[in-house]
Amino acid sequence: MNANAPDAQTMKFDGRAFVNGQRVGARDGAVFDCVSPVHGRVLTQVARCGQADVDAAVAAARAAFEDRRWAGLPPTRRKQIMIRFAEQLIAHGDELALTETLDMGKPVRYARGVDVNSAANCIRWYGEAIDKVYDEIAPTASTALALITREPVGVVGVIVPWNYPMIMAAWKIAPALAAGNSVVLKPSEKSPLTALRMAELAMEAGIPAGVLNVVPGFGPEAGSPLALHMDVDCIAFTGSTRVGKQIHVMAGQSNLKRAWTELGGKSPNIVFADCPDLDKAVEAAVGSIFFNQGESCNAPSRLFVEESIREHFLEKALALVPKYAPADPLNANTIMGALVDQVQMATVLRYIEAGKNEGARLLAGGAQVLRDTGGCYVQPTIFDGVRNDMTIAREEIFGPVLSVLSFTDIVEVVRQANQSVYGLQAAVWTRDLNKAHGVARALRAGTVHVNQYDEDDITVPFGGYRQSGVGRDKSLHALDKYTEMKTTWIRIDSPV
Ligand code: NAD
Repeated sequence: MNANAPDAQTMKFDGRAFVNGQRVGARDGAVFDCVSPVHGRVLTQVARCGQADVDAAVAAARAAFEDRRWAGLPPTRRKQIMIRFAEQLIAHGDELALTETLDMGKPVRYARGVDVNSAANCIRWYGEAIDKVYDEIAPTASTALALITREPVGVVGVIVPWNYPMIMAAWKIAPALAAGNSVVLKPSEKSPLTALRMAELAMEAGIPAGVLNVVPGFGPEAGSPLALHMDVDCIAFTGSTRVGKQIHVMAGQSNLKRAWTELGGKSPNIVFADCPDLDKAVEAAVGSIFFNQGESCNAPSRLFVEESIREHFLEKALALVPKYAPADPLNANTIMGALVDQVQMATVLRYIEAGKNEGARLLAGGAQVLRDTGGCYVQPTIFDGVRNDMTIAREEIFGPVLSVLSFTDIVEVVRQANQSVYGLQAAVWTRDLNKAHGVARALRAGTVHVNQYDEDDITVPFGGYRQSGVGRDKSLHALDKYTEMKTTWIRIDSPV
């Protein structure tokens, strides 16, 4: 934090929606309290948008799209503005990071070092990419020319969760805006503040009014009207599998808008006895499940350890646990903060009880802590002796809970790893190349890590198999989601 950084105690927030370039309250004046999980106090009141507000935002987005104030700009111009938008995020990084921490509880060191930087990088990357992607000419007979071109779909509705509010928004709005669309973004009711600020900063950077609108509110009240809207051409959703399924239904029930969903996960992490670096594997197993308080869709929450090294592995893992003791997320040294709210904390504690009741061995943690803060803190928790059919191995907990399973047979561990409704990510640790490639191929997941778990880059697609969703965020592939493919046949009667 620099010397001019805002102060968490005195910061003021504007919870009004952002529609057509202006801050506005909900049309019916409704608001909801935005409560910080850091200390349990109300940060501000936020516009509780509903159908009328979504209609207004979609109308603004449609008007902006139709008059081509954004889509009609040359790609080089959109690029410049998006790069300025990214720079705005960096310039306001301390403010955005503090806001994110207060709003959803993550440690401020990561809000600043990961979330702000990653969101800005994503916006810059798609800005920079958009004047470098070419369309195609098909290899037809010479009597015709067939152009295969990409056009923006129009109005894109975006619905995101609360675990990485800025990054999840950026993964969708960046490719959508780069391609020339207008956007209506509904952030999670649990973390609405940074999205609203991002929209203001986008406009200051030069994105025209109406092109990026933000309607905060609850899922059924503001999210459903967006997913059901007859004038929204595409809905891009990140969130739970339960709601993701409804999004596809709503798309089908309305105008068959394109629906893209990035959903839950229960990612398996398989450590063989011939793992090349056990300490690294332990650090990755523990660090990745406790990062962001375990509130990561791709967290490796099912750890499969080969039985011959299980005890040794767990000894090392337990030695790391105290490092992750929850503490004040506003302290720059803290690496484990607060869960997003009381509801999520109750869910996590319920899963911990289920683990105990179904016979898993609680090795570490398992309890709420720092109660006197008024915030939502749960200890990093490890269960050993977990079976793949237990609730804590099947269902996404979305909290700092690691389920450890052991195995002796490679075929059996791959079968169990794949025995999940999800297929977001997976990992395998071995020094045997054949085993690494063979297992990586056999794992049904959108991303497979080999001998690491933390590689990540905007150039690489992100998304899952099966009920982890439909479509991919990030990389140039994401542009396909926000563009229609057009074929134009031109007859050529060549005089020569
Ligand atoms: P959620 O599904 O409860 O909510 C996500 C968003 O959907 C919120 O904005 C919410 O208001 C909205 N919503 C809820 N009900 C709705 C409805 N009926 N109609 C329209 N919108 C509705 O999920 P969450 O608890 O906010 O987020 C956690 C989930 O997100 C986890 O399952 C996690 O795995 C997933 N996630 C996935 C990825 C990924 O890339 N695959 C990334 C981050 C989070």
